[in-house]
Amino acid sequence: MAKIGFISLGCPKNLVDSEVMVGLLQKKGHTITADPAEAEILVVNTCSFIEASRMESIETILEAARLKNSGACRKLVVAGCLAERYPKQILENLKEVDALVGVNQIEDIVRVVSDEPVNLPDSYGRSDADLYLYDHTTPRALIGPRHSAYVKISEGCDHACAFCVIPKIRGRYRSRSIPSLVKEATRLASRGVKEIILISQDTTSYGLDFGMQDGLASLLEALAGIRPLRWIRVLYAYPSLFSDRLIGAMNSSEKICRYVDMPLQHASARVLKAMKRGGTRKSLSRLVGHIRKKIPGVAFRTAMIVGFPGETKADFLELKDFCREMEFDRLGVFTYSDEEDTIAGALYPKIPGRTAEYRRRVLMQQQKRISARKNRALIGQKLPVLVQGPARESDLLLEGRLQSQAPEIDGICLINDSEIDDVKSGRLYTVEITRAFDHDLLGRIVR
Ligand code: SF4
Repeated sequence: MAKIGFISLGCPKNLVDSEVMVGLLQKKGHTITADPAEAEILVVNTCSFIEASRMESIETILEAARLKNSGACRKLVVAGCLAERYPKQILENLKEVDALVGVNQIEDIVRVVSDEPVNLPDSYGRSDADLYLYDHTTPRALIGPRHSAYVKISEGCDHACAFCVIPKIRGRYRSRSIPSLVKEATRLASRGVKEIILISQDTTSYGLDFGMQDGLASLLEALAGIRPLRWIRVLYAYPSLFSDRLIGAMNSSEKICRYVDMPLQHASARVLKAMKRGGTRKSLSRLVGHIRKKIPGVAFRTAMIVGFPGETKADFLELKDFCREMEFDRLGVFTYSDEEDTIAGALYPKIPGRTAEYRRRVLMQQQKRISARKNRALIGQKLPVLVQGPARESDLLLEGRLQSQAPEIDGICLINDSEIDDVKSGRLYTVEITRAFDHDLLGRIVR
């Protein structure tokens, strides 16, 4: 039995893959260590979505490789999207890498650490039969906090966004069954998880692959019946699939977070068309307005891409004005990354990196003012907060999240006072907001 170290990069979907691999290895009796320096086997679960994440993955692999010379490491395994996309290039150029585990070979990790041969990932040659998706019977060990867990409801994607390589890496869309998801969520809740976060490439397509309409709505209603759960959050919604049935389901239980995460990517009809996403500024503002009217108090998160090939100054100003008008509660802005094997990779003119970066900064500056104003409006309000534990920046404070704050991507609520003794992590408390910052809040526990 080996001592194995895991480094998990990329999105929450990749984190779930890491947790499944850890679960499988622990079931086989292996020990998992949080300290890469003492690991005999190191697994780097990589991301390959855009240039920046690929660079981070390669740097992390090289860092891990150095441990083969200085630490206990005798075997270096690369898993995830980079392994799936560039198997041959990794083995040719990174000689320290001993084995690869693709995104559809998650369960091969057990054989790899036992030095058994496995096939190389082959995202081009694989068939549908090779596509992998864990279920409630698959061992899984939570790597993140004990009170909040991601649940992957499907894998792959059937959309064809011009800038995105994920369908090529992760394959066609395939959903898990509602009974399997309810069983997994029930087990997580029985282990103290208070918040589950439903993730996939597109949660609103859930169930379409087995002929279900509004599958996500039915899933939410089924999950809302799990007693110990307090919050059910949904990420990665797709604009054209956000139905009134889903809105109804989101309003059907206090447990379902009044939180919508819907990457819109742009607001110029011309750019949206080139991105193969469709829609116009008018149709998107109508959709956002409709959701806000039908789900009172909903927090709206979105993501935009600037610097897409052919994006003019006028397109950008329309996007900026749209974001000013919509006043999103949460906004992430990414600079376009030219990806081989994508439609956009062949589109011109390319926008210079510094122009794209300038546009990203301008949008985030505008958003900072919007976020600060919205946060100030919360001062004096008493709101439910899920306490996560000591603050990362100061052990004088606790940190938690409101329902309108998703982990890792949104701000937090710091807590510097309490009318309650012995505050416990993973519990919900009512917090009175006393101060507001650009993205974070400060408050005191009142009950
Ligand atoms: S919805 Fe579009 S951006 Fe998202 S994973 Fe699918 S193809 Fe990529």
